[in-house]
Amino acid sequence: MYDYDLLVVGSANADLVIDVERRPAAGETVLGGDLAVHPGGKGANQAVAAARLGAATALLARVGDDAHGRLLLDSLRAAGADTVGVLVGGAPTGVALITVDPSGDNSIVVSPGANARLTPADVRAAGSLFHASRVVSAQLEIPLETVVEVVRQLPADSRFVLNPSPPRPLPAEVLAACDPLIVNEHEARVILGDARVSEEPADWARLLLAKGPRSVVVTLGAQGALVCDAAGVTRVEPVKVDAVDTTGAGDAFTAALAWQLGSGSAPAEAAGYAARVGAAAVTRRGAQESYPTAEEVDALCC
Ligand code: ATP
Repeated sequence: MYDYDLLVVGSANADLVIDVERRPAAGETVLGGDLAVHPGGKGANQAVAAARLGAATALLARVGDDAHGRLLLDSLRAAGADTVGVLVGGAPTGVALITVDPSGDNSIVVSPGANARLTPADVRAAGSLFHASRVVSAQLEIPLETVVEVVRQLPADSRFVLNPSPPRPLPAEVLAACDPLIVNEHEARVILGDARVSEEPADWARLLLAKGPRSVVVTLGAQGALVCDAAGVTRVEPVKVDAVDTTGAGDAFTAALAWQLGSGSAPAEAAGYAARVGAAAVTRRGAQESYPTAEEVDALCC
């Protein structure tokens, strides 16, 4: 018996968003609208998404002892995620400063803050969480050496899911643990070292699989997704929705996929469910605020 369906190891950020008429050039000051502060970061997003779906979820992360840290803890608890693994202090909470112009284009400065202080020693100290979790997921908004330690701490019977975002080349040890490695086009390009031989996503998936993961999932936005493993490539059809805001859709997809795989669903079936969760998430504004409950996913017509 596991205490948690999913342990997410990753980042927690406060997203500070200001709408502007024009994004400032160097040396320029512009006036914008009211500041909006949203809980974000890929780790916290995944944990909130999974918990809202009903998965027993814990997050291993680090936030500052400050108002942004409390905002993130509140959002996680409101969704039902366990925050026992959220370490507090050591640096200010990570922040993304985002300006958005009327066309929707944005400029973003990220201060990793406490996320950069989530260390391999923190992972080792959380060993009991790993043994209590059926599936462990991670992203790359925390130090790579911390993700390497996550892989080393995995109990033999647990499953590891990685969304390598922001992407960078990965050690063979990390690639070999992924089941699946979940990438979008940009992430696939970086991990393949631009060695893409075609414009065909199924080809990237096969090339990525050859790098060592047990399985690969390629997310394709409104085009759905692909699942690739030893059995071949399976296309996951998109769910047709009116997209309002795609922020955080990938995190919702990953969380749902990890949970469903851990629950015993076959990869294509799990990805089909995750595609419905991703589709539901794009019908509302924001990231964590947009994530659906299981009832809302069931109600989404396919
Ligand atoms: P992010 O930018 O959040 O990191 P991503 O690029 O990793 O996202 P996406 O491909 O945008 O991930 O979205 C994840 C999944 O959500 C898709 O594979 C798809 O199943 C679903 N999805 C995303 N956008 C849409 C859409 N406009 N319509 C239907 N489904 C969508």
